[in-house]
Amino acid sequence: MSTIAVKDGTQKKGIVPTMIDAAAQAKIEIHPLRRGISLLEGSGGNIVVLTGRDGKLLIDSGFSVSKARIRDALNNLRADAITQLINTHWHVDHTDGNAWVHSAGATITAHENTKKHLSTSTRVEGWQYTFPPSPAGALPTTIFNDEHHVHQNDTSIALKYYGPAHTDSDISVLFEEADVLHVGDTWWNGIYPFIDYSTGGSIDGMIRATERNLSVITDKTIVIPGHGPVANKAALTEFRDMLSTIRNNVAALKQQGKSLSETIAANPSAVYDAKFGQFLITPAFFVTLVYAGV
Ligand SMILES: [Zn+2]
Repeated sequence: MSTIAVKDGTQKKGIVPTMIDAAAQAKIEIHPLRRGISLLEGSGGNIVVLTGRDGKLLIDSGFSVSKARIRDALNNLRADAITQLINTHWHVDHTDGNAWVHSAGATITAHENTKKHLSTSTRVEGWQYTFPPSPAGALPTTIFNDEHHVHQNDTSIALKYYGPAHTDSDISVLFEEADVLHVGDTWWNGIYPFIDYSTGGSIDGMIRATERNLSVITDKTIVIPGHGPVANKAALTEFRDMLSTIRNNVAALKQQGKSLSETIAANPSAVYDAKFGQFLITPAFFVTLVYAGV
């Protein structure tokens, strides 16, 4: 089992085992949104489901340890089969359940880089974890580079690539009639986000993705983050301001010649730590992720 060093020098369980253990114990909470769209919370990243007569469309598949509880939650919503699965990006907390969802009948759609990373052994330095290649059934079979459109259950769904952001495989998912935008892990609502530099992510890519998200929504849009509760433009604006403020603070310190440990010691995220530093990504770790990209 991997371990990570935290700021005070103690060791704790790595991020990936921590997420799996949390999913193994968590109940799956169902949050109905609009027009047959619901959010399932409790297995890694947020899972979204669109129900209707064409069968269920899922966005992301959580961790496989949650399979039985996710199945129960889906069956409580409506009895019909899962026919489609879309992955917002390649990370394990959004794709580990792909194999069982595919076995249940779903065709998997994702950006081409999601397929690329799932197909091979992939190291994420920030998690100190190397993922083995996924089984064939877990791989997306419909892949795209820039944009892709799906129509299911009287709903038009637009998938759009961000370019490098949280990884190099992130897409947004817009439910057009419902005015619901899923932005994947370009947004962690109320918490510092992980940024995966090993597969193309960066702080500047995160800020660019957030600016795009803000430019395509209104105050009425329901915005679904990859982690945390659904929210709106005001909360996403606060996230954007947090990202750019900390980015600029860290860049200024780095330009003064400060080392990473000196930069962490200067507390460049101090005003945001009480609100955003309470989950997996500690203030010191988030400053480390920003420092790597400025
Ligand atoms: Zn992710």
